[in-house]
Amino acid sequence: PGEVGASAIQNVGAYGVEAKDVIHAVECFDTQTRKTVRFSNEECRFGYRDSMFKKDDVRGRYYVLRVSFRLRPGGIPMSLDYGSLKSLKERLGKYPTIQEVAREVTKIRKSKLPEPSETGSAGSFFKNPVVPVHFYKKIKNVGFGDVPAYPAGEGMVKLSAAWLIDKAGMKGVRFGGAMVYDRQPLVIVNAGGASGRDVMELSDEIIRRVRTKFYITLKPEVNFIDTGIKITVLGTGGSKGTPELGCECHVCTSDDIRDKRLRSSVLVETAGLRLLIDPSPDFRQQALNLRLADIDAVLVTHSHYDHVGGFDDLRPFCGNEDMPIYLRSDVNADLHRRLDYCFREHPYPGVPTFKMNIIDNNPFYINGLKIVPVEVMHGKLPIYGYRIGKFAYITDASHSCEEEKEKLEGLDVLIINSLRDCPHFAHFSFDQAMDMIRDLSPNRAYLTHLCHEAGCHAELESRVPAGVSPAYDGQIILSTR
Ligand SMILES: [Zn+2]
Ligand SMILES: [Zn+2]
Repeated sequence: PGEVGASAIQNVGAYGVEAKDVIHAVECFDTQTRKTVRFSNEECRFGYRDSMFKKDDVRGRYYVLRVSFRLRPGGIPMSLDYGSLKSLKERLGKYPTIQEVAREVTKIRKSKLPEPSETGSAGSFFKNPVVPVHFYKKIKNVGFGDVPAYPAGEGMVKLSAAWLIDKAGMKGVRFGGAMVYDRQPLVIVNAGGASGRDVMELSDEIIRRVRTKFYITLKPEVNFIDTGIKITVLGTGGSKGTPELGCECHVCTSDDIRDKRLRSSVLVETAGLRLLIDPSPDFRQQALNLRLADIDAVLVTHSHYDHVGGFDDLRPFCGNEDMPIYLRSDVNADLHRRLDYCFREHPYPGVPTFKMNIIDNNPFYINGLKIVPVEVMHGKLPIYGYRIGKFAYITDASHSCEEEKEKLEGLDVLIINSLRDCPHFAHFSFDQAMDMIRDLSPNRAYLTHLCHEAGCHAELESRVPAGVSPAYDGQIILSTR
């Protein structure tokens, strides 16, 4: 970051110009073939703050060694319609040179942005949202006055993230050491001793407040670098949840908060992504409990209602961008039937909008993060568990073949279903879950999809071997990646 390579990867831009306008070629070291390769401008497939280097399967593969730029003799035509650049020609009494424009831009930036040698910053933190015109009209209609917008291709407009953050009242707001820069609210600065956590919490607060006011979801432009995975257990219950309706057994009437089990689901946070595995019918309550600010994508294990009943409640997080969903083709077909109103040609305004990504039993990437589907049998139904780094989530399994088990070697954390003691045709019993854990020998294992017959949390805790624990709703588990 901060070096010339970033200009090509990020297609950096400002003041009406993007690096792609002048980049001729990019020379890289390919970490896979260990050879030097050269990409032409076209091959880089530049987009708004985007290039092929950021694409899912390529991210992290190339080191940029050099970038060649092609400037035009005389420096014309240059883009001079931005802010004080407009008057530059008049002030100089002639058409400015590239150098004069550069000097002027540097001056503007110095007045707006923190001086890196004095104040540390995370730079321009959010992307300017690009939204469909009809969506933009809706914001205007709800009476927030004129939200500034710029044409951004066929039927789309670009909004100013800085303007939205400012109007949401976030200028100068501070979380721990992290602060929204008061002269340019798109920038998060270190006002003293800011931790990564402070920056992320502030970022979430910005996302929440901008959504509250404008119903627009800001997406960070920065890269998050972390080596760990944070898993928030959203629910640990079986298909009926615990307490079960109408049941007054000692588990269903237990006072222990850990015995209140919503339907099974987890939130996985890593590499700046928030991934939801299964929007359960309790998703709304689970998201409220967490004050969840956003979700970047959803992974689906299978289409049984207790794992997908919360799809409609994803609406607020679909906002201005379709929510990416990763799922098997049979699950996709089921959801098209069940949520037919979301997939009509002319849907009712306000329905959630999804981007369905059909996956098979091969690894795939989300923003460069590798996700490995693990096929398990749920009775007679093949379904997916998911492995991300050294973490895996397996629910509703009753059997796994050896080949798939190999994908689960060397885990730090495994979350696995353990319905109850008594065998069930479509779910691991407690003993079967223990056998799997012994086979796979992760550093730590947690039990989920527990029905009331699994017993109380405290009872389960007293009988599991070392390294195994029953999971509970709201639990946070950290895994290595
Ligand atoms: Zn289930
Ligand atoms: Zn199921």
